[in-house]
Amino acid sequence: MISSGKAAQFLTDSDSKAFDLEHRRKIRFNIGKYNTAVQTGLGWYRDHELARSRAAYRKSQIVNNLDQYLLQWEENFTKRGGKVIWAQDAKEALTEIGKIVARKRARTVVKAKSMTTEEIHLNHFLEQNGVESVETDLGEYIVQLNGERPYHIVTPAMHLSKKDIADIFVKHLHIEPTDDAQKLVATARKLLRGKYTAAEVGVTGGNFLVADVGGVAVTENEGNARLSATFPRTHIAVVGIEKLIPTLQDLDLFWPLLSTSGTGQQLTVYNTVYLGPRQPLEKDGPDEMYVVLLDNGRTNLLAQPDKREALQCIRCGACLNVCPVYKNIGGHTYETTYSGPIGSIITPHLAGFEENKHLSYASSLCGACSSVCPVRIPIHNILLLNRQQSVREHLNDKDEERGIKLWLYGMKHRWTWSLAPTAAKNWVLERLLGQVGWSKRRDAIKLAPKSFRQQWKERPKK
Ligand code: SF4
Repeated sequence: MISSGKAAQFLTDSDSKAFDLEHRRKIRFNIGKYNTAVQTGLGWYRDHELARSRAAYRKSQIVNNLDQYLLQWEENFTKRGGKVIWAQDAKEALTEIGKIVARKRARTVVKAKSMTTEEIHLNHFLEQNGVESVETDLGEYIVQLNGERPYHIVTPAMHLSKKDIADIFVKHLHIEPTDDAQKLVATARKLLRGKYTAAEVGVTGGNFLVADVGGVAVTENEGNARLSATFPRTHIAVVGIEKLIPTLQDLDLFWPLLSTSGTGQQLTVYNTVYLGPRQPLEKDGPDEMYVVLLDNGRTNLLAQPDKREALQCIRCGACLNVCPVYKNIGGHTYETTYSGPIGSIITPHLAGFEENKHLSYASSLCGACSSVCPVRIPIHNILLLNRQQSVREHLNDKDEERGIKLWLYGMKHRWTWSLAPTAAKNWVLERLLGQVGWSKRRDAIKLAPKSFRQQWKERPKK
């Protein structure tokens, strides 16, 4: 693996995070709570494996016929007055959102949790344009206050303890120190309530785009997405093009599957399907609703039939929670929007293969991710396919490439192993493994003083 630039930084950060015992304690505690809840949640299924197979099948239908479903969805959504913006990349998405915000003369935007808006760095863009952008999901609000990116795709503040959060509130909101979680929640709620009514524009993501009704399905636990979508006069949903499902009835399968794998809940608390702006006889809802359909590299994946299953992801976060690498190095080390196993397979295709291919090496290939994925994405296989692409395109480290060639030659020509004495071979081995950090915290690997061949020769003859 190349260890320069982003990859080198990744290795350095991984090394320090993996030995940060306080970080490990918090992550173990929080993932432990999640594991218990998920085990309970899985118990509610009569046949969870069947549900996974059905979901995988439905999503693969979508991914393999994405063009048709997108057009069907668009036709149905626009029928009720919804407006669609097709954005090829983050720049296009931001430009169009910027135009809407400027037209509405918006000074404040309220935002529900959405990974696609993280992907296009919407908060940063709005702030640069003098617009206040307020995260309304509690976890997102906390990390926004702390100037961080989300740590996890489902639980953005997973790396923080109650005390850390209290300290953040004291520092940024100037409250009295407290260890009472209810007080902290009440503080955030009070502050956010004012923002909903002041904001001219509300932004959400979308968990699913429902093709047969042209709807945007949003699932959440705090009700903040509903408030963000209905109080402001304009609602903008930023959604990846792969988020389609064929019919409204499919939510029956996908909503419980997402919540069980994500948080262990039978069903998330608030589940809403937005069908467009307020209609003539409706009492509430926005005057205008836009959906930004974001490509931003997704069609790169779609163009590769052996890897496009990665587009089936419903962002439940389960693969992160079981990944031994994620649990040791944590979410921020990846320096990407999508971390953990799913992030490692999609980021190289969404954000540049060469700069991000190192993420596909951040895996033990144990397969735990694939075994929990509710839509059966063969994550560990795609990690290998990314590595293969790296080698095929000669993007990997030249020293490593030479080393592997040498190793291959040695494996195919046994006699080369007898050329040098054991001490010399040990010296080479130590240097080679030292380059990848092997001997930093482990004993050096030493070859046996005598090879098997030597021992065989020297065995007592009958
Ligand atoms: S890859 Fe599977 S397990 Fe991971 S977030 Fe996506 S749906 Fe969940």
